[in-house]
Amino acid sequence: MHVMKKFIGYYKPYKKIFFIDMFCAMMISLIDLAFPQILNYLNDTLYLDTKEAILNSLLYLFIGLLIMYIVRAVCRFYVSGQGHIMGARMESDMRQDLFDHYEKLSFSYYDKNNTGEMMSRLVSDLFDISEFAHHGPENLFISLLKIIGSFVLLSFIHIPLTLILLSVTLIMLVFSYYQNKRMQATFTDNRRKIAGVNASLQDSLAGIRVVKSFANEDLEREKFYQSNDRFLKSKENNYNIMGIFYGGNNFFQGLLYLVILVAGGYFVAMGTLDPVSLATYALYINIFVAPIEILVEFTEMFQKGFSGFKRFLEVIETEPEIVDRPDAKELKDVKGVIDYQDVSFAYTDEEPVLNHVNIHIEAGKSVALVGPSGGGKTTLCSLLPRFYDVGDGSISIDGEDIRNFTLHSLRSSIGIVQQDVYLFAGSIRDNIAYGKPTASDEEIIEAAKKANIHDFIEALPDGYDTYVGERGTRLSGGQKQRVSIARVFLKNPKILILDEATSALDNESERHIQKSLEELAKNRTSITIAHRLSTIRNADEIIVITENGMEERGTHKELLAKNGVYANYYRLQFEGLDYDEDTI
Ligand code: ADP
Ligand code: MG
Repeated sequence: MHVMKKFIGYYKPYKKIFFIDMFCAMMISLIDLAFPQILNYLNDTLYLDTKEAILNSLLYLFIGLLIMYIVRAVCRFYVSGQGHIMGARMESDMRQDLFDHYEKLSFSYYDKNNTGEMMSRLVSDLFDISEFAHHGPENLFISLLKIIGSFVLLSFIHIPLTLILLSVTLIMLVFSYYQNKRMQATFTDNRRKIAGVNASLQDSLAGIRVVKSFANEDLEREKFYQSNDRFLKSKENNYNIMGIFYGGNNFFQGLLYLVILVAGGYFVAMGTLDPVSLATYALYINIFVAPIEILVEFTEMFQKGFSGFKRFLEVIETEPEIVDRPDAKELKDVKGVIDYQDVSFAYTDEEPVLNHVNIHIEAGKSVALVGPSGGGKTTLCSLLPRFYDVGDGSISIDGEDIRNFTLHSLRSSIGIVQQDVYLFAGSIRDNIAYGKPTASDEEIIEAAKKANIHDFIEALPDGYDTYVGERGTRLSGGQKQRVSIARVFLKNPKILILDEATSALDNESERHIQKSLEELAKNRTSITIAHRLSTIRNADEIIVITENGMEERGTHKELLAKNGVYANYYRLQFEGLDYDEDTI
């Protein structure tokens, strides 16, 4: 019921088209139903007395039929054109709603769901919905009108013959219904299997570099072959049942003619039926047999469309976990004082990743997080832009709980540079401008200069218009990282998160980028996660996070003096290196 209501809601903007469409569908049915009646008229005409009267009558017939066919053609034109357009518009509305909703959903949703499957929803599910949205009501209407209309008209001619016809038709309907139900099951199975194919394709293509670097093409081929083959088997099963369905229907259609000829012939012989009426029966069979198939196809379309729509609703009705409070305000004129107060957090119900974390960072100061991977450093940083919300405790910026700000203004105030850089397919210019879509060329160049990548870009044949492949495959790791730093320069946030920004780079690139990062961190509050301790020596506070939580904290000097975990790391990293305390 709820699903139905939501579905009908999508018709609302197209009410007018819908009603005209239904009206045209009705006209088509009525005209088709009227046709065999013409035969009667023609029959009467041919027995008129004078030649003149016959010709006159034929003229009326000609004009009448011509008008009918023109009306029918116009109606067909509307139903096929506008009706489909309505379906396509509804599909487009739903697709847009789905995409908008995907954009709203929180990270936790993406942690749990597969992108291939999400794409499948956007493409194939919605196509089924649109087909049903348009053909569903129209098919139902046309076929019911034709079937019921045919039988009503036939019952005026000869009741026993009509009843015989009706019983064969009912058997046919029952057969079709059951075959169709079997077909349904296979359709659902098809859908699941193709989603599997999509998921496996998406995964393999997205990870193609990993696949090739491990020379695992055969393994991937085998995995893909399996999902592809499962889909094929499912389709084969589907087509087998479909064969029985159409073959059976064909047989019943023959049976209807057979019954008409034999039983009708018998009634003609008995003198209760005239031969012209018998011909009318034969003509009506044509009119209602096709609608029976359509009616059965309707149930199929209905189920396909509806199961698609249900899956669509499932997503649309998944509430994003993190949304603006109704009274949320803009985070403006940020100073950049950050406070984590007694923050605890867990991704699932199990082990908490963070336990009672307290951090205070003054405006413009820097905090560095170090420690073994898996300790929760990235998680700690993800809480600040509210990628996830704290379980317990609170985080505040400039003394106000971040949950009181709009997500947009909060995230606009925070810049993040991560180890993995995602570049969009497009030009380098577009990718830098992602930090501020309204930026002028001068601003973009300025940002690129600060990120130390301007000279490199200028030297490229196409300069700023150079196309970087999906994920920026045409650039080196260091170049990509500099593009992402330029983005953040352009965004110019008050708060900065550097999550192992240089960890994936070689020493040479790291040194270059380190300079840009130091430049970037000026006059901003920053949280830096780093493996190479040389990069964080100057941080105002260094926090060591291990599986035991926050083990140690203090300045570089204090921690060295303490001679604990940090001092140990430090010695390990620089062991054997001829270093001087003050230069590293
Ligand atoms: P670090 O950045 O210190 O290496 P992370 O914050 O990435 O550590 O991870 C901390 C813990 O949280 C790890 O045990 C990791 O498995 C878990 N974790 C990280 N991200 C997720 C996620 N999206 N869903 C569930 N668990 C996660
Ligand atoms: Mg991390």
